[in-house]
Amino acid sequence: MEILTGVPASPGIATGRAVRWDGTESGRTDPATDLPDASQRVVADLTRRAEAATSTEGRSVLEALALFAEDPELLAAAGRLEQAGTAAPEAVRTAAAGYAEQLRGLGGYLAERAGDVVDVGERLAASLEGRAPAEIPQPGHPYVLVALDLAPADTALLDPSAVVGIVTEHGGPTSHTTILARSLGIPAVVACGGARDSADGHEVVVDGTAGEVVVDPTPDLVDERAARERDSAERRSRSTGPGRTADGVAVRLLANVGTLDDALTAAAADVEGVGLFRTEFLFLGRSDEPTLDEQADTYAEVLSAFGGRTVVVRTLDAGSDKPVPFLDLPAEENPALGVRGLRTASVRAEVLVRQLEALVLAAERTGTAPWVMAPMVATVDEARRFATLAREAGVGTVGVMVEVPSAALRAPHVLAEVDFASVGTNDLAQYALAADRQLGDLGELLDPWQPAVLDLVAATCAGGAATGRPVGVCGEAAADPRLAAVLVGLGVRSLSMAPVAVPAVRAALEAVDLPTCEKAATAARSAATAADARASVTELLR
Ligand code: PEP
Ligand code: MG
Repeated sequence: MEILTGVPASPGIATGRAVRWDGTESGRTDPATDLPDASQRVVADLTRRAEAATSTEGRSVLEALALFAEDPELLAAAGRLEQAGTAAPEAVRTAAAGYAEQLRGLGGYLAERAGDVVDVGERLAASLEGRAPAEIPQPGHPYVLVALDLAPADTALLDPSAVVGIVTEHGGPTSHTTILARSLGIPAVVACGGARDSADGHEVVVDGTAGEVVVDPTPDLVDERAARERDSAERRSRSTGPGRTADGVAVRLLANVGTLDDALTAAAADVEGVGLFRTEFLFLGRSDEPTLDEQADTYAEVLSAFGGRTVVVRTLDAGSDKPVPFLDLPAEENPALGVRGLRTASVRAEVLVRQLEALVLAAERTGTAPWVMAPMVATVDEARRFATLAREAGVGTVGVMVEVPSAALRAPHVLAEVDFASVGTNDLAQYALAADRQLGDLGELLDPWQPAVLDLVAATCAGGAATGRPVGVCGEAAADPRLAAVLVGLGVRSLSMAPVAVPAVRAALEAVDLPTCEKAATAARSAATAADARASVTELLR
């Protein structure tokens, strides 16, 4: 028996034989005659896949990929390279890489769409070269799929009755692949180094809750994990309504939304509101700023969809080399450390002011006042300046995201300026561990169980306690049921996540009381490594 550790990506436990997939093409087809022909074929293929997709999320990912495959800017950029003498397949790969780079510059959720564009570029190039797209293995029995990484278009098509678990060596907790695995209910572990060599052909247990892959498990271990999974599936299906611990401490369970569609879907789910409304989608790729009315209309639609429930809106989180041309920001060597997030307001304050005005207009129209927070706040001065601007615009509840270690370390002073804080563990891990969140092979460093990240969350909660301000978490850490208990033990009282993750987190919290959460928090922070933290909390919560 060998235990491999990775990052838990989709909760649940599955057992099966591992089949390694290296994504090699399944054969040859007639090459596309030119780029428009390749575009048509890839769009047709992705549309066919979308129709066959086994989940709504899968369908929308495939539809979004089909849009990339006929994107006029992408095709025009490839066409220009081709005219300058580059062979068509290389031209489209290069154009897609450039487009992906622009998305990466945006940071956050949009940066994670970069992999989708690269995937589409590869599909267009394969069509031009006459290579048929690789197909997921079909060994004729349910199995655990083990790969270096998985493209979203492949993940979207997985049939949960055939693929019972997913293990990848690359990939982060926030990639499209992870989100899709969750929506399909397939347990998944990502950033699991060495998995392909160790697991291929062997019986494995994929524990997507603990982030473990057990190769050649003993029969006792298989039985024990299966019983645990039955128990937690039953608890998940029983629990509904507001989040609370076993001893009745309220922990609000909120949704992360990144588009209007997301918001409308989340509004119909059993969530207590929105803990992170990423507004970037309104600004992406625009050559002029969305007008006050356009913004107000969109915000009003989201606010009214949620009725009286809380909606926490994050103001524009942009990077300096971002494809939001109207911001007119200079190019930078290190965009993640540059003029991004709230810092863009020091260059173009009027864009932030207009966004705040639009939010206030939307509040007036709907009778629901959003909570409004700024991304990437690093200092007390920044928190104060943002709070002043927001309050002058008429915003009633003003907050900051804590995703830069300096803000966590100085939380009492930062929080004294505002009404609440929301910890963005995705960026907090990136900056605390100096690990680019876009690099799949740094997944281990980006693990929110890293004790250093938990120390920073604890520092933020101490600031919350000292000032009486509530502290929530809206990074992916909130979606991990065991880590949720740790976060509550640290003092966090709201957790915002993809709505599909809410039932498992709700059930996990219902099963523990606050003193146990506090013990879990102490155990996690006393651990030397992320793996030790996870192991000791798993043991304690058992
Ligand atoms: C975060 O950084 O944790 C966060 C929630 O924001 P984003 O993922 O959009 O950067
Ligand atoms: Mg962030």
